[in-house]
Amino acid sequence: MDDVKIRLYVDQPMGAGQSLTLDKGQAHYLFGVMRQGLGARLAVFNGRDGEWLAELRAAGKRGGELVCLEQRTAQRDPPDLWLLFAPIKKARTDFIVEKAAEMGAARILPVQTDFTNAERIRQDRLQAHAVEAAEQCGGTYVPEVAGLCRLSRLLDGWDAARQIMFCDEALAGGSSALAGSLAGPWAILIGPEGGFSQAERARLRGLPFAHAVSLGPRILRADTAAVAAMTVWQQALGDWQ
Ligand code: SAH
Repeated sequence: MDDVKIRLYVDQPMGAGQSLTLDKGQAHYLFGVMRQGLGARLAVFNGRDGEWLAELRAAGKRGGELVCLEQRTAQRDPPDLWLLFAPIKKARTDFIVEKAAEMGAARILPVQTDFTNAERIRQDRLQAHAVEAAEQCGGTYVPEVAGLCRLSRLLDGWDAARQIMFCDEALAGGSSALAGSLAGPWAILIGPEGGFSQAERARLRGLPFAHAVSLGPRILRADTAAVAAMTVWQQALGDWQ
């Protein structure tokens, strides 16, 4: 199999002989930054059809064309794990999205909690970070970054079949064991720098599908907590086994 160094996410159908159109940004990256020429081979994926070997057939300043040659790997989806987190400062929010994509979150949902400062997020920019992380980590799946939603509203419409690993800083030092029925879809919930309010904590503790856990004896920053929680979950229930 050809050893290719470049992986590119292209949101178009893939199949043998299928041609793919490159947009301006991709053309700039391939021709301007990576200095690729006609005939160059790279790996492409669209989040649905696995990874394909593709060849450059046309190159221009504003675009280009690839053709799919053969499938290199089958599609591999992550476990059905969502990450709910309260957006914090820009660089740390970017970090959380990037790490969530690398760690195998199926969906990333920024939530507004009682102590969340962020009023809005740049959903398109965060989505681009998820794409870049997938390109970089060899994944064939790109998690969707949802729009900002109030935690209380999300809980109002919650599907009780999806269990919540509620990372509660008030339990720091307590048990980190995941309780509940372990099979099925899950979501991890991480609070903001200010933590959860008493009202949020009371509501979450009363939900039968939410399981409060500790992430060890130290209070972690939200970005560290997100990675630590995904590690614990993947190790116990996810695709690390
Ligand atoms: N300001 C809060 C800490 C918030 S830390 C305080 O001093 O208590 C940000 C988020 O990370 C928390 O809301 C929680 O979801 C998670 N977190 C950090 N450390 C944790 C721990 N030891 N156990 C469980 N969750 C933790």
